[in-house]
Amino acid sequence: NHVPLTPISFLKRAAVICPDKVAIIHGPLRRTYGEMHARSVRLASALARRGIGVGDTVSVMAPNTPAMLEAHHGVPLCGAVINALNIRLDAEAIAFILEHGEAKVLLTDRAFSPVIAEAVKRMEHPPLVVDIDDPLAEGGELIGALTYEDLLAEGDPEATFPLPDDEWRAIALNYTSGTTGNPKGAVYHHRGAYLNALGNAQAFHLSQQSVYLWTLPMFHCNGWTYTWAVTAALGTHVCLRKLEPARVFEQIAEHGVTHMCGAPIVLGMLIHAPESDRRSFPQRVEIATGGAAPPSAVIAGMEKMGFNVTHLYGLTETYGPATVCLPQPEWADLELPERAARMARQGVAYATLEEVRVMDPVDMTDVPADGLTVGELMVRSNTVMKGYLKNPSATEAAFRDGWFHTGDLAVRHPDGYVEVKDRSKDIIISGGENISSLEVEEVLYRHPEVMEAAVVARPDPKWGETPCAFVALKPDAEGSLTEADIISWCRDHMAHFKAPRTVVFTELPKTSTGKIQKYILRQQARAAADEAAS
Ligand code: ATP
Repeated sequence: NHVPLTPISFLKRAAVICPDKVAIIHGPLRRTYGEMHARSVRLASALARRGIGVGDTVSVMAPNTPAMLEAHHGVPLCGAVINALNIRLDAEAIAFILEHGEAKVLLTDRAFSPVIAEAVKRMEHPPLVVDIDDPLAEGGELIGALTYEDLLAEGDPEATFPLPDDEWRAIALNYTSGTTGNPKGAVYHHRGAYLNALGNAQAFHLSQQSVYLWTLPMFHCNGWTYTWAVTAALGTHVCLRKLEPARVFEQIAEHGVTHMCGAPIVLGMLIHAPESDRRSFPQRVEIATGGAAPPSAVIAGMEKMGFNVTHLYGLTETYGPATVCLPQPEWADLELPERAARMARQGVAYATLEEVRVMDPVDMTDVPADGLTVGELMVRSNTVMKGYLKNPSATEAAFRDGWFHTGDLAVRHPDGYVEVKDRSKDIIISGGENISSLEVEEVLYRHPEVMEAAVVARPDPKWGETPCAFVALKPDAEGSLTEADIISWCRDHMAHFKAPRTVVFTELPKTSTGKIQKYILRQQARAAADEAAS
């Protein structure tokens, strides 16, 4: 009597319980759960009528729009695998992913027609291109064989589909950003997506009253399971094509937003938004942050602005969030800086995840829970990807001794909470001492004039490496601080050998999810060191 775990039933359930509730807000458009369900079923049915089914890949390239939400429900319903593309990819990367993932259909927002046309030209077996003619899209031509609405018209809104016969069947394919070679496709299964969606709903307190603002891209693993989590909780999705502070504040105020997510950089963007971008709102908004370590000053800044911060940690390979810094009741009595410091830790495993351990990667034993001894964070769970598509060597390297190796260096505190100290590739080794780039960044963010900061290794003939800080000052502080000022601030607040030796004032390069691209900064630091040596 075993029923497979899958998120594909969440939308049907919502349409039965509250068919008239507003499920989607997108500009002036309102769509109820009844309508959203009917359109997703139409999509599944239209795809099935075109021969798409179990094992086929349907790719989608779109910002946070109703069609993206419908695709997350409709594509797996007909048995196919959804592959959401990063909207910042160039034609070469898109062609690589479509070919590697063997996409049969590509649903694409018209905003991306030039890059899609270019990508498709490069392919031997291009997918069927379907144009999503989103009413809020600016520019872009219709280049596909048909429009998304035409495709939906081919489908039957009353069609029924069986549950997957195997909950370990693939539901989605997400590619890593590929900063170290071709992107790798992480394969997710129905069971994991179901568990992760419920884990998100639980860790982030989603309910029927939740109004979720889509500030995190639906194409990214940090965002994608909220397409199901918010629906499972019977909340309302507020779509957002473009992440701009003024639009975010406007949406919060207009729609009574209760929940949203963002990388720490996005939180910083809101904290430093000019007065003209801000709007007041009576509700306290829950904001989940992760994807990179949030400095405690950023957590404190958001709390002061009327947000409740939830700190999550995870990877593409773990379906997105895997740990949450669950606030303990006694933390409420702490002063804000101390509470924020506790919340900056990555925390404990999701309720839907079996085990997160900090182990010595060589002998695979737990490090002591002393808050000091560093090991590698490892995960064993149903919400770890099956493996990388057509890449057994990378899969084998990621899973050793039955554990998924995150590549993140962490400690375990006496209360059981884990704290990431650095990514193994970001750690700086200076004169034989390990320096955590996150620890230096934490001190930089405490400087009242610093808006954003990142610290990377700069090659050094004497020390091997030294910390190099890249700093963006608040707009009204630009030009007011020197390299020496920043260095002496750090030396006053941490061991001298950890303080940056060089400081570059600059804007920081970021990914589409708002992560600072440290590999670009590392290249710059290396180039500067080479130049200094020559
Ligand atoms: P790529 O796509 O090239 O793999 P990426 O590694 O940034 O890029 P993700 O899977 O999104 O892709 O990132 C996972 C990594 O992000 C983690 O291994 C960790 O280093 C970092 N990270 C995520 N959340 C947190 C957090 N809350 N605190 C500290 N680091 C975090």
